[in-house]
Amino acid sequence: MTVAPDFAVPFFPPGLFDADRAALLGIVREVGLDPEQRFILGRRTAAFEAMLRADLEAADVVACSSGTSALSLVLRALDIGPGDEVIVPAFACAPLAASVIGTGATPVFADIRPDTLTMDPDHAGRLVTPRTRAVMPAHMFSVMADMPRFTELARRHGIRLVEDSAVAQGGVLRGVPAGLWGEAGVYSFVQVKTFGMPGEGGVVVTRDAELGAKVRLLRNHGQPPGQRFLHQVIGINSRFDEIQAAFQTHRYAEFPARLERRAQIAAYYTERFAPLADRGIVPPPPDRDGRCFYVYTVLASGRDALAAHLAESGIATHVYYPHPLPAHRAFASYAPPGARWPRAEEAARRHLALPVHHLLTDAQVEHVADRVCAFAEAHA
Ligand SMILES: *Cc1c(COP(=O)(O)O)cnc(C)c1O
Repeated sequence: MTVAPDFAVPFFPPGLFDADRAALLGIVREVGLDPEQRFILGRRTAAFEAMLRADLEAADVVACSSGTSALSLVLRALDIGPGDEVIVPAFACAPLAASVIGTGATPVFADIRPDTLTMDPDHAGRLVTPRTRAVMPAHMFSVMADMPRFTELARRHGIRLVEDSAVAQGGVLRGVPAGLWGEAGVYSFVQVKTFGMPGEGGVVVTRDAELGAKVRLLRNHGQPPGQRFLHQVIGINSRFDEIQAAFQTHRYAEFPARLERRAQIAAYYTERFAPLADRGIVPPPPDRDGRCFYVYTVLASGRDALAAHLAESGIATHVYYPHPLPAHRAFASYAPPGARWPRAEEAARRHLALPVHHLLTDAQVEHVADRVCAFAEAHA
């Protein structure tokens, strides 16, 4: 089958920065020629942090070098370390487990819910021991984790709640923005994420000003702002770039429209795919509350055949996590012998992410939906 070039549907927008190219080059020039010659943690980073803080009504927003680094900073700021346990989802990305291990603590893997693909609060609750210091759910493929239940769980056991909201910037559940449910959350700005930028970066967001101040210390080798070579705690290098700060500040006004376009595309997919559930293709649960459309993920019994069928029609798809975290060699020693995570294993086998980015045209979106529906008809 030949593919009409109009209908090639890339997974990530190839022209992500096209509309902002002149602004980007202008900022490079401005920062490059600024007599101040300050390229990290300057006034542009401070302005970017202040803008996000005001918009989120957070106590603090601390820009740092990546989403992964943001998770590590939060765990360190909470004094999590050797002998402690942190409950993380079994179906997720490596930084969730690796950031815990990096502090010297032990990740404890909880299974996921089969519908939302986020950590199951009931299973997480059964894994709490006297050593548990924190629970760290992650918002995932279109749906935020069940934060009201995790808030309740953390309160009941007197443990900390850390939100891996790396992909959920702009998501809101019951009026509370993703990242502000627990002690702290994070956003990632790596290119592919919803507010991705041309480089690496992230932020810690928190309602706790004291925790924010501690993260600020830790991100720059334990030095209080403005006091070089005065190390109060052992920190790391997780600083933020001035060019990126100015660029992200410049682009922030159009971020809501991009999210809205993603949400519209997702709603259209969910409407088209709702009747396919008894034909082996299950869309995410329909709702607008607590959604984050970094990716749009369906569960399909013939997942690999569906991916091949879409590829023939020029549609790029992604299998994010082909294996649950405890199945990786890197994390196997943290998996109790004989333990299984049946729902994480099933999600790894069945999930497929479809293009949902804001630069897709209506024709591309309809093409994706048509091809998915055609596959379901043919395999009914
Ligand atoms: C991308 C991602 C991270 C890490 O962010 P980086 O900026 O790539 O370090 C953490 N958690 C989740 C769920 C992510 O998707």
